[in-house]
Amino acid sequence: MSVTMFNCGFGDCFCIEDEYVERPLYVDFGIISGSLKSPKGLRELSEMKIGLHMWQQKEKDFLLTHFHEDHYSGILFLHGKKYFQDNMKFNTVYLPNVFDPSFQNTILSVIISTTHKSVYRLPKLDLVEFLKILCDNKSNIRLISRGDRISKNLIALWPVKNLVEEESTTEISNLIENRVINASDVENLISMATNINTAVGLMVNGEFEKAKRKLEAINPKENQALLATLTKIKRKGNKLNELGNNISIVFQNEIDQREACGEIMEEYESRDILFTGDVSKSVWNMITHMPKCEPKNLRMFAKYHLIKIPHHGTKCYYYNFEKYIVSGKTVCLIPNEPIAKKDKNGKPHVWGIADEYKGDLKEAHVYTSQNNISSWKSTGTKKEMIGFDLMKVL
Ligand SMILES: [Zn+2]
Ligand SMILES: [Zn+2]
Repeated sequence: MSVTMFNCGFGDCFCIEDEYVERPLYVDFGIISGSLKSPKGLRELSEMKIGLHMWQQKEKDFLLTHFHEDHYSGILFLHGKKYFQDNMKFNTVYLPNVFDPSFQNTILSVIISTTHKSVYRLPKLDLVEFLKILCDNKSNIRLISRGDRISKNLIALWPVKNLVEEESTTEISNLIENRVINASDVENLISMATNINTAVGLMVNGEFEKAKRKLEAINPKENQALLATLTKIKRKGNKLNELGNNISIVFQNEIDQREACGEIMEEYESRDILFTGDVSKSVWNMITHMPKCEPKNLRMFAKYHLIKIPHHGTKCYYYNFEKYIVSGKTVCLIPNEPIAKKDKNGKPHVWGIADEYKGDLKEAHVYTSQNNISSWKSTGTKKEMIGFDLMKVL
């Protein structure tokens, strides 16, 4: 098994190769605005370097854990470059399954959470632009939720569709109850959600031309009412951004013969991997407390060889992975570069790796793009990625 971690500053991009996948599987590709700013042009260099890596692979798949800039901006960036446009085709693209027409609130929440940041970058909405690129690429589109297989031997632990829908419904109701949005706002959002849902349904069926037409109909520049709605939500702030993270695809390798014999994964295997998108603690609590009657292949391993830490190891999404770590063996990936952010009250602070991780992961091999990890009391090997380097971690 081989996993490559690319330096996206504050952003994710990985490539899994070998036994678990049919062909190289890229997991996310994005860099948050403000990351890798210096020296000048570093961000572009990084994106180009990753693009070249993708370009060199004739056959490749792409999995997007969730619809946030720091997980898909690279695809948007490369699509703007003529050189890459024709060579960026993925065989299969895996997306979190939040497009079920019966789950209207989920898709509404996703749209709100992914677009509210981009409202000021009109006329484009990143989610819609991303889907349009997939239409141009004509890749097979696979929607993933818990229990679905990814590529050859990977299996999704999350999202669970109805749990996500429940949470979304609560949040949308809160927005209405607190009068952040009114009935006509909801109508605007629903019409956009319906278009997106229909487009994705068409894409799954391979009807890309029709899907693209649906997506092109969503143009906030020409839809002042929709724009006003999105701006209103953005101004008020809301909890939906967290929901945008909590739809992430979480996956691990499939449980094999070991467990088929009745032995439950107590022993450590040097090839068990866990990718976590950006999910928060509440999702971990749900994943780890799933009913015992669930199929065996959806249980978590006792220990992992590699864990991609969620949400760039930041404090607000902190989860203690200590119990899954084998001292001196487990590899943890924390794609983080400290960037200046504002908190809810507009107070500036730096989004870096939570101090808690520095304690809990002390026995693990930690790979990060953050340059100031020298204070970590790690007994394992720690490596830094500087500039636009990529690193083969396994
Ligand atoms: Zn995110
Ligand atoms: Zn992220």
